[in-house]
Amino acid sequence: MEISEANMDSFGIEVILPEEGKTAPRCPHGPTLLFEKVDNGGSKGRRFYACSACRDRKDCSFFQWEDEKVSKARMLAREAEMLSKRPRFTQQECCSRFVQFASLPFIEKKFCEDCQILLLPAEHSAHSAHRTTAVTAAQLRRPSILLRPLDNKKSNAQYLFTDRSAHFLLDTLVGLGYKKVLCVGTPRLQELIKLRNLEPMKSLLLDIDFRYAQFYSQDEFCHYNMFNHHFFGGEASRAVLDAFLTEADGEQVVMVADPPFGGLVKPLANSFSLISQTWKKLRNSGDSNIDIPIIWIFPYFFEPRILECLPALTMLDYQVDYDNHPLYKHGKTGRRQSPVRLFTNILPKQVVLPREEGYRFCSMCQRYVCSLNKHCTKCNLCPSKDGREWKHCSACGKCVKPSWSHCTSCGRCALPDHPCRQGDGGNGCFSCGSLEHQRKACPLRDMRRKNSLGPKAKSLGKKASPYLAKPGAKKKSGVANRAKKRAANAL
Ligand code: SAH
Ligand code: ZN
Ligand code: ZN
Ligand code: ZN
Ligand code: ZN
Repeated sequence: MEISEANMDSFGIEVILPEEGKTAPRCPHGPTLLFEKVDNGGSKGRRFYACSACRDRKDCSFFQWEDEKVSKARMLAREAEMLSKRPRFTQQECCSRFVQFASLPFIEKKFCEDCQILLLPAEHSAHSAHRTTAVTAAQLRRPSILLRPLDNKKSNAQYLFTDRSAHFLLDTLVGLGYKKVLCVGTPRLQELIKLRNLEPMKSLLLDIDFRYAQFYSQDEFCHYNMFNHHFFGGEASRAVLDAFLTEADGEQVVMVADPPFGGLVKPLANSFSLISQTWKKLRNSGDSNIDIPIIWIFPYFFEPRILECLPALTMLDYQVDYDNHPLYKHGKTGRRQSPVRLFTNILPKQVVLPREEGYRFCSMCQRYVCSLNKHCTKCNLCPSKDGREWKHCSACGKCVKPSWSHCTSCGRCALPDHPCRQGDGGNGCFSCGSLEHQRKACPLRDMRRKNSLGPKAKSLGKKASPYLAKPGAKKKSGVANRAKKRAANAL
């Protein structure tokens, strides 16, 4: 049977993280992930392997049942497909091209918008029918502006930080004394670090969008898949990460990740844990309970799921916003505020949120919060997640959204027009797992960033790091929306 979008939506899909010694088949995006369908009654379906990075089978059609025997012919076809998906240039070639390009006179510096590549003079004629632009030295330092953001509406759109958010992040990291920033899916942050030339600050970008290899040296960019911790450049590329994670003379490292939204929290958490483990090993000193400092940027409604995987993280109130996101801009009141937050293991009180943007310090919570987020003495915390002022419900024994009221038949607070006692609405959104809405109203439907198979690994691999949750924690799993277009083969 084929897994179509339609029947994927009617089942929950669980991701099963790889167990030691078990190798998953590979697609052009590295080792595939093992999924298991679970129906509403909780019974398990047949397991299958599918691409870790692409939900849309148009982007990566890999599919294999766990117990399936694969014919020789199909293996060969797969090999051929992998070869055909390889980037046009190797990373090494990209680097020497960049050096050549940088030394060209302005008149010969051209970028092909159709092919998304920097052109060398000998290539101009081959691209003469394409749209090309001149490239200034300043533009060459701002690849996130030069490159067209991947904007596949229903899939892997790239959302770039506004200057406000990017500068806030960088100022915070500088203020905390970090000297190395591991940028996981944050090309604009890496760009800003280089632009501001904050000696001796260093950065390394890990991203699946290979177009960025054209602008950075081999120790500044690794072609990487954060859903399976795969390095497309193999051992040499891993070695680049290892060297970066090695802290000499108090060069503290911090990691900032802004993954595509839409789920797959479990594999992301697993990859981040693996990065932390590498960092620990290289430190080889002191406390093995300490993890690499991390900032994971993700929507607030994923909080329960992220904390389930990485209990050491805390969600901060800061609202991250994006230049090219149509819906989420900072500062507007009501529903259009950005739902994207920072999840971090850095001590919350050390992350100073700007007063002029409406944040204040709560001395009881020992963290900076949105000024409308009023401390509740009954809950003993600042309860708001969405930037609006929440109110305490004594029947529920907790604070709830201002628009909710207590429903005696459901025995909980809900929107006044909620489907009263229908089904077990208490299980919330089948797509993202939130208890606050049903799937039809899921904000992820609008976000249209990377989507994913829903979450919830049922079994965690033996390699689970200390900051992964205990196995067995299990909630209803869900399937997210539609698919993605990916960047890997842009060159
Ligand atoms: N706000 C960030 C960009 C976030 S968009 C900034 O301004 O720098 C998500 C980023 O993750 C993109 O750069 C995208 O190329 C990258 N990405 C998407 N899927 C990925 C994957 N599977 N592995 C690694 N990076 C990925
Ligand atoms: Zn794939
Ligand atoms: Zn071209
Ligand atoms: Zn309260
Ligand atoms: Zn209530």
